[in-house]
Amino acid sequence: MPCVLILGGTGEARELAARLAARPGLRVVSTLAGRVRAPRLPAGEVRIGGFGGPAGLAAWLRAEHVTAIIDATHPFAARISSSAAAAAAETGIPMILLRRPGWTAVAGDDWRWVDSLLDAAALLPAAGRRAFLTTGRQGLASFVDVPDTWFLVRCVDPPTGPLPPRMHLLLDRGPYTVDGELSLMTSHGVDVLITKDSGGDLTSAKLTAARILGLPVIMVRRPPAPAVPMVATVEEALTWLDNSSA
Ligand code: NAP
Repeated sequence: MPCVLILGGTGEARELAARLAARPGLRVVSTLAGRVRAPRLPAGEVRIGGFGGPAGLAAWLRAEHVTAIIDATHPFAARISSSAAAAAAETGIPMILLRRPGWTAVAGDDWRWVDSLLDAAALLPAAGRRAFLTTGRQGLASFVDVPDTWFLVRCVDPPTGPLPPRMHLLLDRGPYTVDGELSLMTSHGVDVLITKDSGGDLTSAKLTAARILGLPVIMVRRPPAPAVPMVATVEEALTWLDNSSA
């Protein structure tokens, strides 16, 4: 029986799993890193935890007789995407990268692009002294040496490791609304938003809110994607699967 591996952790990965789980004669396995304590689980078979790098993933692909790989991980999950590209090349299993487009600034936006969280931190406090930090719980250590900026940190699970000295923690997960983001940002007196260029609709309300409030946005650029065929939507990934030899 053909077997599709969906590398997950995104809304698109869950949508793909839901669409494919209904197909008879197809085994679908979704995998998650295991970072989130209570993840939203995709439909069908789910495996949680890493593979042990490209060699471990290649061995797993062979053992499970995987016939196609769809990498639907988050645009900032660079290690697993690179690992999947290497394992696909080693095993000869067809692979596609499903990567939603990044966000695009429109009239009224004041975005400052940076290459890393440390580069984002270096723009503070000049860019703002009350920052809404939505880059996730990993990487908060990049902001430990920014004593003159207070942070509203929003993430899904409690962070571990070094934290900014002055901060308020908000545990929440999207999707978010523009009204909700406006109210959150005004009630905390936020004057700058820091985000990764994750793309997609589920978390873009903060960008609209920043535009309405006239606030600058520090936008962290995506890491480079591996050199494998890429599509932007779930629909295109399904078409690729139908046309592939898998
Ligand atoms: P990462 O740095 O690329 O991955 C670190 C390690 O975690 C990988 O080397 C791999 O371990 C394991 N791993 C990651 N994704 C996996 C998956 N889908 N299935 C099985 N193992 C996986 O990734 P990350 O940035 O820590 O993100 C972890 C997960 O959270 C990803 O699945 C991603 O889609 C999701 N996510 C990430 C972000 C973000 O901002 N980075 C945001 C939302 C969701 P081995 O090397 O041992 O195989």
